Amino acid sequence: MIKIKNYCIYYNHRDGKYYLDKSYPHKKNKKCPYKEFDLADDNHRTVATGTLDVCIIVLPGAQVDRNPTDTQTTIPNRVRREIAAANRIWQRRENGRLVQGVRFNVVRSFVYLENISGIVSNAENFPTRENSHMTMVQAMLRTGRAVCPNADVYVFYMNGNRFGPINSDYSSTVAITYNSFPIIIMTNASTSDYLLAHELGHFMFITNRFNRTADPEPFSTTDRNHNRTPTNLMFPSPDSWPPVPDITADQIYKALNSRVFYD
Ligand SMILES: [Zn+2]
Repeated sequence: MIKIKNYCIYYNHRDGKYYLDKSYPHKKNKKCPYKEFDLADDNHRTVATGTLDVCIIVLPGAQVDRNPTDTQTTIPNRVRREIAAANRIWQRRENGRLVQGVRFNVVRSFVYLENISGIVSNAENFPTRENSHMTMVQAMLRTGRAVCPNADVYVFYMNGNRFGPINSDYSSTVAITYNSFPIIIMTNASTSDYLLAHELGHFMFITNRFNRTADPEPFSTTDRNHNRTPTNLMFPSPDSWPPVPDITADQIYKALNSRVFYD
């Protein structure tokens, strides 16, 4: 006679896998105890995969590694590399199939060969005064919407080796993601193909549908947007990254809770 044992099975929304709890043999007419694998968000049905539509706008002087034969709508080599890196790190694949994570889809890429009126092309000259800064960001968003009316996020590649002036601690900002605009700005100073993936991470965390915008393991009480592990993609500075930075299942789960995926 073959004895069949039944065990309780739990679904973990974080990695989309089913787990068998062998410590709890399932008895007839007895319910499995509810077991919490993750945040209270579990009953909000976090999607396993999502697609983020990215619009690329390249301003004059941005170093994006174009081929001589590229047209203005060809996706430049640097952008291809950075989007590929973002897809690698924000996705978990099994046998080549995407099982959990975010697909970054370039809806359109456009290279401006001449300055756009109202927008500085060199990120180092980005205005610091609040009013003129916001006026410029709004002009960029209008430009972005003209290129791609329905993208989720607009990535601008700009000339210059930093964003704005050098910081008071002599560091400089090489890329930024806005809190209140779907805009990411990349400069020429990028040292890693994963920097765009980092900025896209900020965008997905900032747009969390429960407004829980912090990284799952925040860097500090004052900087909750970054991760505390030096090798992690969301560590504040890319200087301590290995060639391929780390990411955690919690971060991918968090990214999948961007409101972008629930429209
Ligand atoms: Zn950052």
